[in-house]
Amino acid sequence: MLHMGLVVQKFGGTSVSDAQKIHRAARRAIRAKLDGHRVVMVVSAMGRTTDKLLSLANDVSSNPPKRELDMLLTTGEQVSIALMAMAIHDAGHEAISLTAAQLGLMTDSVHTKARIQRIERQRLERELELGRIVIVAGFQGIDQAGEITTLGRGASDTTGAALAAVLGAGACEIYTDVDGVYTADPRLVPDARKIDRISYDEMLEMASSGAGVMHSRAIEFGMRFNVPIHVRSSLTDAPGTMIMAETEGMETIAIRGVTLRENLAAVFLIGMPNQPGMVSTVFSEIAGHNIIVDDIIQNIYDSGRKANVGFVIDAEDAPVTKEVAERLAKEQGYEGVEIHESVSKVSAVGVGMRSHSGVAAKMFDALSGAKINIYTISTSEIVISCVVSREDGPRALAAMHEAFELAKSNGGGSEG
Ligand code: ASP
Ligand code: MG
Repeated sequence: MLHMGLVVQKFGGTSVSDAQKIHRAARRAIRAKLDGHRVVMVVSAMGRTTDKLLSLANDVSSNPPKRELDMLLTTGEQVSIALMAMAIHDAGHEAISLTAAQLGLMTDSVHTKARIQRIERQRLERELELGRIVIVAGFQGIDQAGEITTLGRGASDTTGAALAAVLGAGACEIYTDVDGVYTADPRLVPDARKIDRISYDEMLEMASSGAGVMHSRAIEFGMRFNVPIHVRSSLTDAPGTMIMAETEGMETIAIRGVTLRENLAAVFLIGMPNQPGMVSTVFSEIAGHNIIVDDIIQNIYDSGRKANVGFVIDAEDAPVTKEVAERLAKEQGYEGVEIHESVSKVSAVGVGMRSHSGVAAKMFDALSGAKINIYTISTSEIVISCVVSREDGPRALAAMHEAFELAKSNGGGSEG
């Protein structure tokens, strides 16, 4: 293991989108170096590069082979690591850029969404030993056969967290264009506040229920190897949000944040004969189309002879789901199928829910006060979600933010 003062600094696309920003990021790494740290940088492609490369691919081909997509998309990060190394040299310091292949960041062979399997440390440690700032291309990997892979959109975060874990870094710093994770999307809720500290579990729930701050797999790496992840602005020195293991102080606040997930559809299968195999048939057919289903509810009536089933899918999957459901309705004798194609899901997330009572009541009260109708409700240990109509989504979010007084708390507990 390397000594304690190792930091991993990951810079997202907006933080390296032009020469000036590259120099700014370089200065931050140099500063950490001069403070006595060993520094590993992970860099994303500049600005919207990855999107532009993807649209180029789609201009050339209606169905680009995934291997070639990975070949193409990884060039974005190769550009930015080289430029970053040049910027650091320009400032009179030692740096070296490394691709995943040079470093030995090994993945499985699932092109466009590969998973990291192993990271070699020799090359990294040798370069750090020489006093260099090591600049690693985010988002990419290499498989056993030497093929280039990518880890999924937004996955430079995951490269950063995985390197921090492997090298035993004290923290993984994620530099971005926002100054942290907020109690709600500030574009929708203007008095949303930056959260100081949030647990891995809460962050995972917030990410999956709509807060688009971080790649989920990065949070999972942080959690598994207990590496705190510090999400912060690349423009200031202000501390951002620390994603970390849960502490006792965190439970003093019931709700850490609220989220809105849009572009969903709610599906209701009405009056199904309640017989073994009915539900499994419909969900295995839907799964056969690679459609992800969430928030399944079933209830029975007519002395258990009939059932209603509801669930939520991405709106783009509604047409196929409709076809499947309507066909099965005929074949198997449901009374009806209802699909609401423009709904959203609002969620309240917090580990404090475990020890506070009345959280659900407060959420429903806030929605009713705003005259918002609820389609379905689902709960888990640290999340309560309601599906509402799309047009009500932003108002629902604001009403919940207000009811839980999130503008007042720092969302992190004060003790530490
Ligand atoms: N450049 C990649 C993307 O845009 C990876 C990343 O930025 O995290 O998805
Ligand atoms: Mg990102």
